[in-house]
Amino acid sequence: QLGDKNAEEQLETRVAELRHQIEEANYQYYVNDNPVLTDAEYDQLMLELQRIERENPELQTPDSPTQRVGAGPIQDVPQHVHPVPMLSLANARSEKELQDWQRRAQNILPNATFSYVCELKIDGLAMALTYEKGRLVTGASRGDGLVGEDWTPNVRTIRTVAHKLRGKHVPSKVEVRGEIYMPIKSFEQLNEEMSDTRLFANPRNAAAGSLRQKDSRITATRNLSFFGYQIGYVNGMRINSHWETLQLLKEWGFPVNPHVQLAHNLDEVMAFCNKWEKERFNLPYEIDGVVIKINDLAHQEELGSVARDPRWAIAFKYPPIQVATKLLDIRVNV
Ligand code: NAD
Repeated sequence: QLGDKNAEEQLETRVAELRHQIEEANYQYYVNDNPVLTDAEYDQLMLELQRIERENPELQTPDSPTQRVGAGPIQDVPQHVHPVPMLSLANARSEKELQDWQRRAQNILPNATFSYVCELKIDGLAMALTYEKGRLVTGASRGDGLVGEDWTPNVRTIRTVAHKLRGKHVPSKVEVRGEIYMPIKSFEQLNEEMSDTRLFANPRNAAAGSLRQKDSRITATRNLSFFGYQIGYVNGMRINSHWETLQLLKEWGFPVNPHVQLAHNLDEVMAFCNKWEKERFNLPYEIDGVVIKINDLAHQEELGSVARDPRWAIAFKYPPIQVATKLLDIRVNV
């Protein structure tokens, strides 16, 4: 009995410790764009917390970092309330975890035949771009998923973000989502120009730090780019599949990553993941995995989300060799 009590207390202490460390890492990563841990170290803490909470449901709380997206917006930047929450993505690190994800979705929709869209997981920051009558009116970051930061003037400086939608079918209002990223070359050049104490740890942090500037003229000098990959909501238009979404985004004038594939089973999905695990080092930007999305939007709607992740998508994550080495290099150099 006494032993049980001790073990319980130890577990509670560990949970509190993990939550504190993760909150602190989130703050440094999402608010200051200056990570204190490598992604591998961070993921390790998160996996441990998720495991303890799964095995001990009485320790779960709604404010645990396992239940929340990112971090809240900073004080002195205008806030943008997302009409449709911007969620995170659950992770799979092996074929078995991918199959488990597929099985969970199939159990909810036993009669559905799924196809999957495989996309590269660009390592940047998620943006929601709102267009009214075809014109860009807001560019907002994800923040905590419910409220983001409004960075419109800075987003307007990014050359690949459309100011005006093209094409025949321009809706009265639409929110386009995608990733703002910095190409590896631009990241390296930027770090050469920065003083040693202000180096960015990786292109993802360089992109976030460059976008989140008080002075848009600074953002304009950073070579940021954009890939569109989602529609948050759209007025008066019926879209049936994610594949169709990607075609529409192209028609409206957004860059859509060309390395996408429509897969009809998990073997095809795995082949795509394996191919890009090797070939990712030839890309001019960093990716940290592949995002797999169930193609049919009616299926997506029926599957919905759990805590902070949609059930209809998953990120197949690569081991973060590259990121960890870069961060260590920088630590050694400083
Ligand atoms: P995530 O990065 O694992 O996945 C969600 C994000 O993927 C989306 O918000 C979007 O920005 C991005 N994405 C890229 N390409 C996409 C595509 N084609 N389709 C859809 N989304 C796409 O989740 P997260 O919640 O943003 O961040 C968690 C991860 O961030 C951790 O696993 C860790 O790697 C890193 N992190 C690190 C630290 C640290 O201290 N090093 C701290 C916090 C978070």
